Amino acid sequence: MAQTVYQGTNEPSFRDSVDIMFNQAAERMDLPRGLAQKIRVCNSTYTVRFGVRLRGEIHTFTGYRSVHSEHMEPVKGGIRYALAVHQDEVEALAALMTYKCSLVEVPFGGSKGGLCIDPREWDAHELEQITRRFAYELIKRDLINPSQNVPAPDMGTGEREMAWIADQYARMHTTDIDSRACVTGKPRNSGGIAGRVEATGRGVQYALREFFRHPEDVKIANLSPGLGGKRVIIQGLGNVGYHAAKFLEEEDGCKIIGIIERDGAIYSESGLSVEAVRSHIGATGGVKDFPGAAYREDGPVLLEEECDILVPAALEGVINLANAHRIKAPLIIEAANGPVTAGANTILREKGCVIIPDLYANAGGVTVSYFEWVKNLSHIRFGRMQRREEESRQQILMDELERLTGKTVSEEFRQRFSRGADELNLVRSGLDDTMRVAYQAMREVWHARDDVPDLRIAGFVIAIDRVAQTYQAKGL
Ligand code: GLU
Repeated sequence: MAQTVYQGTNEPSFRDSVDIMFNQAAERMDLPRGLAQKIRVCNSTYTVRFGVRLRGEIHTFTGYRSVHSEHMEPVKGGIRYALAVHQDEVEALAALMTYKCSLVEVPFGGSKGGLCIDPREWDAHELEQITRRFAYELIKRDLINPSQNVPAPDMGTGEREMAWIADQYARMHTTDIDSRACVTGKPRNSGGIAGRVEATGRGVQYALREFFRHPEDVKIANLSPGLGGKRVIIQGLGNVGYHAAKFLEEEDGCKIIGIIERDGAIYSESGLSVEAVRSHIGATGGVKDFPGAAYREDGPVLLEEECDILVPAALEGVINLANAHRIKAPLIIEAANGPVTAGANTILREKGCVIIPDLYANAGGVTVSYFEWVKNLSHIRFGRMQRREEESRQQILMDELERLTGKTVSEEFRQRFSRGADELNLVRSGLDDTMRVAYQAMREVWHARDDVPDLRIAGFVIAIDRVAQTYQAKGL
């Protein structure tokens, strides 16, 4: 198996790193003999190599779909397009999906897919051919299926790829009325849901807001109260990092002092405008020459800069045995999957750094994917039922307000008040609720048990316990 994805140290592989974290939690639990092993292992990984004729030649691509745990079905997880995709990575990511879904109580097992490809090397038409062919291979084996395995976007994929996959499935299952639920993260006009694109970044924002609602936890991180004014460094301005940084800057008053991208990093003590940096990347291909900011080519070094909150939102393993000692941030929120290795996690904890772990911090994406899947299966616009209920509740409130004040409520006020019941607002409030409840569950275990030293182990304890309970109830 491919080992070591991290440079410079003899660090375990990504999958081993996830397993080490799992073991740290499992050894603090009282699980029946053999059950921890059953939960930890990855059930199966399918590898496919297929050819596509492009630019007058046949190109062979390698793809994977790994199923980590089928304690609940369908299993769920994104499909990643990147040259670095390999079996160990896909299996680690599938395992994280199991624990993530369990922690936020989204009723799915864990899965993940990947295709070894640099999507920037191909045009849209070529990518469509490649994606449809890959999807065909997975659909044939029920590795894409509304009741068995439901992919979603991940690094290098987005709404466009999900629409192609959904269409490919529909062509191969012309009589399946639930075919749209075979994949989430689709565009709105193909059965998608409002707020899915921003969901993971939005979840990171809600996670931080919830963290700052608990003064004891903020104190452990040695930070002053309140999210407003906090100095943030973010790695990766892709879909997750961009939305997280944008919301923190525009809605919570954080100062984004550093941004790390592929071509280097930029820094400005007075704060960077996320929108302006995003446009600059769109126009020039990188962060270099962004006006008013200091630039350095060795981007990851900025992870070690002094700041209040560090948000790794790109790749796994970026904080590892080689640089963990030099990290100064008192609070890290893992917007990416696996950005801190197991070894680095221990070093940072001993230094007093608080880490809000990936299995919780980036669960916003799959949470809203769940809303989309439910919407597709119910064949009713999401929230139509809730909306009726909400509207009649509002009507009662307005009538009562008029009765108590003896005045007529203006039409404008009525409309402003009822705007709360549309799909986007329902998605956001459902997500907010999910993030709050999951954080509270984690912190309770963290504080109640002397043998649980951090939020990650607390999150794993809760997640593993729920998976174990499912197995105990239904058998293996
Ligand atoms: N790829 C995302 C993740 O890592 C989303 C998965 C999903 O929505 O199924 O959580």
